[in-house]
Amino acid sequence: RQGWIEVVCGSMFSGKTEELIRRLNRAKIARQRVEIFKPALDTRYHAEDVVSHNQNSIRSTPVPVAQEMLLLAAGCDVVGVDEAQFFDESLVEVCVQLANRGTRVIVAGLDMDYMGQPFGPMPALMAVAEFVTKVHAVCVCCGEIASYSFRVAASESKILLGETDAYEARCRYCFQEGMREK
Ligand code: ADP
Ligand code: MG
Repeated sequence: RQGWIEVVCGSMFSGKTEELIRRLNRAKIARQRVEIFKPALDTRYHAEDVVSHNQNSIRSTPVPVAQEMLLLAAGCDVVGVDEAQFFDESLVEVCVQLANRGTRVIVAGLDMDYMGQPFGPMPALMAVAEFVTKVHAVCVCCGEIASYSFRVAASESKILLGETDAYEARCRYCFQEGMREK
């Protein structure tokens, strides 16, 4: 059996988690053995589930380090990873090993941080992946295609809690405008 790596990347609210859940559900319909992992530090909505902003969810296993996936994914046909940007660089080697032993690996994560810089292991994952899909959000300022996650300044945000209020999807132009005003 052939393995390979798929990357789904983009800004916040771009539909990465939705797309990951869609692909994994289709694999389940095909009766494949599916396992979903996320970094243990990401407990925004739920300690174990992967949840998208439109409340789709799928059962997942939080792992403190990427290496744990190698054992936990034994016997899986398909492995999904969400919030991949929060793992360290060792995630790349783990995904390569999984694919080499015949697993289909689907990795979703932020390609850029709130400064517009490549995020953690994502650039290297995109390099070694067979398939890379960049999904886009809608700019909350102008409605154009958004590729950036703009961090709303603490002074403006008052008592806003949670990531949904701390970040905005923005297009290149409105992201730059916002950074200039900071
Ligand atoms: P991601 O995992 O990339 O952060 P999700 O899959 O969790 O994204 O959520 C995508 C959903 O977020 C969309 O289907 C939509 O309902 C919602 N959403 C909220 N704000 C935006 C926005 N600015 N642009 C696009 N979708 C948005
Ligand atoms: Mg997500």
